[in-house]
Amino acid sequence: MAGADGVWALGDAAAWWDPALGEHHRSEHWTTTITQAAQVACDILGTEPPPAMPPYVWSDQFGLKIQTIGRTGAADETVALHGAGLDGGAVKGTVAGYFTGGALTGVVSFGAPALVMRYRPLVASGADRRTVLERAGT
Ligand SMILES: Cc1cc2nc3c(=O)[nH]c(=O)nc-3n(C[C@H](O)[C@H](O)[C@H](O)COP(=O)(O)OP(=O)(O)OC[C@H]3O[C@@H](n4cnc5c(N)ncnc54)[C@H](O)[C@@H]3O)c2cc1C
Repeated sequence: MAGADGVWALGDAAAWWDPALGEHHRSEHWTTTITQAAQVACDILGTEPPPAMPPYVWSDQFGLKIQTIGRTGAADETVALHGAGLDGGAVKGTVAGYFTGGALTGVVSFGAPALVMRYRPLVASGADRRTVLERAGT
C-alpha cells in the first residue's frame, strides 16, 4: 500500500499494487474488497496480514453461478477439468483450467460450486498439468 500516513483506501475506489500485473490496478469485486479490508485491518493493528491467495470472483448470471480463480488472460492452454461445456455440451457443471507455460494460473467454473474451490491452492502454487488433472480425477 502507498499514500499518506494514517490513510487507507480499499475497494472499488482504490488501485492497489498488483504484482502479477506489475502495475496498480482496481479490482472491482466484492471478494477483493473483503480481502483488502482484512489486509487494511492488519496494517492498522500492525499484525501480519493473511497469506496472499489468488484472486477469487463469483457472479450469478441467469441462474448460473460463475466463479473465477486467479487469472485467465495470459493463458496459452485451456483444459476441461469437469463437464462438457468446452466441447459444446451442457455449460452447467463445467470447470476449465487455464495454463500459462504449463502452470495453472486460472480456473473458471459454471454452476459447479462444489468442485471449484479445490483448485485455489493449485492456482496459488502454479501446479503443473498432471497434478491438476489428478486432482480433477480425469
Ligand atoms: C450491478 C452490479 C453488479 C455487481 N455484481 C458483482 C458480482 O456479481 N460479483 C462481485 O464480486 N462484484 C460485483 N459487483 C461489484 C461490487 O458491488 C463492488 O466491487 C463492491 O461493492 C465494492 O465495494 P466498495 O465497498 O468498494 O464500494 P460500495 O459497495 O459501492 O460501497 C461504497 C459505499 O459508500 C457510500 N458512499 C458513497 N459516497 C459517499 C459519501 N460521500 N459519503 C458517505 N458514503 C458514501 C455508498 O452509498 C456505498 O454504500 C457488482 C457491482 C454492480 C454495480
